[in-house]
Amino acid sequence: MLLLFDIDGTLLRTQGVGVAAMAEALRELHDGREFSFEGVEIAGRLDTLIWRDVMSRHGLEASAELHDRFRCAYARHLERRLAESPGVARLMPGVPALLRALRADSRRHLGLVTGNYGETGRLKIRASGLDPDQFTINAFADDGPDRRSLPGVALRRFRETHGRDASASTTVVIGDTPHDVDCARASGCLAVAVATGDFDRGELEEHRPDLVLDDLADTAAFLRWLESARA
Ligand SMILES: [Mg+2]
Repeated sequence: MLLLFDIDGTLLRTQGVGVAAMAEALRELHDGREFSFEGVEIAGRLDTLIWRDVMSRHGLEASAELHDRFRCAYARHLERRLAESPGVARLMPGVPALLRALRADSRRHLGLVTGNYGETGRLKIRASGLDPDQFTINAFADDGPDRRSLPGVALRRFRETHGRDASASTTVVIGDTPHDVDCARASGCLAVAVATGDFDRGELEEHRPDLVLDDLADTAAFLRWLESARA
């Protein structure tokens, strides 16, 4: 069984440090100009698309070269900001215990399906105190044109890594936004929505995930649901 976790709002929150580092990277690359993220949808979206929207809102061309430079500068500023504020990347309730319990069964495989770039996603996870290497099957922002394409990338990587298919119907996408639920649905995966991000339980329920949780604190309940979903 493959369990694919979102990062921001699901495993952890960085209290705005991620967006601040993005804004700083943009300032650095565009002669000190101030960038606003107002009106740009962020939660549950790919960093590549957030960058493109911000560029477009400021009348700037979104070239591949500028994107590469942004990505490098963003990682550098994020790393520094996370180091300057120890503890700013806060784990959501129950996350370490749940991951430990999931890892205890070798038939379960942990991965990431996230809008973060690989390197910045790993920086956030490490800053929260988790080992990023426990997530072995991952799909990041630059692995596809949109979030919907990412679970399929993870399933392909599972096949490449393990030499056999992981069934989409028993693969679980765990995230905090309607985009996470949508990408699970579009890929034939199970969707667990957790209300530790910007969306409350009622808002998530409207998107009909297979399971809605206030948080990931009840490990036993999560494992019971997993067993019933597998059957
Ligand atoms: Mg999220």
